[in-house]
Amino acid sequence: MDATIDGITPAIRADDVRGRIQHVTTASMPALTDRPADFAYGYRMRCECGGASDLSADDYAAEVDEAHMPCSPCGNRIHFGRAVIALRDPADPALDNGQLNRFAWYHTSTSPDWPSPTYAQQQRQALTRGIPSMREEGVARLSNLALHVGTYEAAIENMLRRMRNQSDADSKFFLYRVALDLDPQRVEAGYRDENLQPAAQLSSAELREQGFQAVRYLNVYESPGSLSLAVIPDAITAVQVVDLDAHGLVPDHDAHMSRQLSAFQSDLDELRSRPPTPTDRHMSVLEQLQARVEARRGKTVGVNRSGAEFGELWKAVESALAERYLLGVNAIVARGFSSAVRARRRHDDGDVWSFADFYATRAFVLTHPSQVVAWLSTQPAAVPSASRTEDPMGRSQEIPIPPTAI
Ligand SMILES: [Zn+2]
Repeated sequence: MDATIDGITPAIRADDVRGRIQHVTTASMPALTDRPADFAYGYRMRCECGGASDLSADDYAAEVDEAHMPCSPCGNRIHFGRAVIALRDPADPALDNGQLNRFAWYHTSTSPDWPSPTYAQQQRQALTRGIPSMREEGVARLSNLALHVGTYEAAIENMLRRMRNQSDADSKFFLYRVALDLDPQRVEAGYRDENLQPAAQLSSAELREQGFQAVRYLNVYESPGSLSLAVIPDAITAVQVVDLDAHGLVPDHDAHMSRQLSAFQSDLDELRSRPPTPTDRHMSVLEQLQARVEARRGKTVGVNRSGAEFGELWKAVESALAERYLLGVNAIVARGFSSAVRARRRHDDGDVWSFADFYATRAFVLTHPSQVVAWLSTQPAAVPSASRTEDPMGRSQEIPIPPTAI
């Protein structure tokens, strides 16, 4: 570790800081601007004429007029959707290279020590083991991807997408606040459109070869219409982190919610306590076999009969929770949130209360960004050693959720 880097106090093990993060030095976090965050935003869609038009999240979610809208500048019909997402704020201050170091950037990860100094090596091992035919060139690139940071909203929506699509429904998530030190001359001008130029799989080497420390890109998957950055690890000077499952900010369910949850829990208990009954319908040989296996494990045979009732019950639970905990979250994000938390429930034999606690905790991050950021920004800052190592294999990377997984 290089203790001569500006702003870094003598090396202190992270165990002293949070007990989780390894291989870091503490640092002073530069004064950063946290841009206002909320999930009530609308969208803009681009037209072939080159113009862009506003679309509310409600209209987007409802796919009004079979997902068509008029273009304000030219009057043509736009078939709206992810493929024509436009920059939400044409005057987005993140377009200015000179502003980038002033902003706090965010990232969510299942790793408590992102950017991990051992990630590249782990990734290399996983790739060579998992895809033995992959050529060295591909292995090197995929184990050396650029790091991705974005707005608060983009970071949180990235977590939701991973919960939905990437078997991370049960994973712990950590939210990072990131300080960058970019040379404005080494940031690509303008931005890449994620629809046209895949940004997720840019490698650090590719960035360096092109003379860049960072490339901006237009998000079309998370917080669509916002700008994120793909950066080389060296550009990250300090991070702060909180465990999103451990935050103590979330208030208890209020009396009304608690009464509702109790009633739901009673209904669930009642459904589960019903005596085993044979199913009403014909069971295939496989189903009969599964039922016998389940019976040997002491589970109820014939539970299929109540499947619809379980489904209805959970739907009612989710709807009560959404009404209480997703106020002010736009319809598109709310839908994504619901399927993200539902993915968790499917893996869970759990009860209404534990689901509700989890739901409220994750929803708080969407409805109270300023409180979460205030809490995050008081955490000790750390400098990832990986961002300062000269060993290429020591550079930490994280596969940034490519649209097409490797
Ligand atoms: Zn137009």
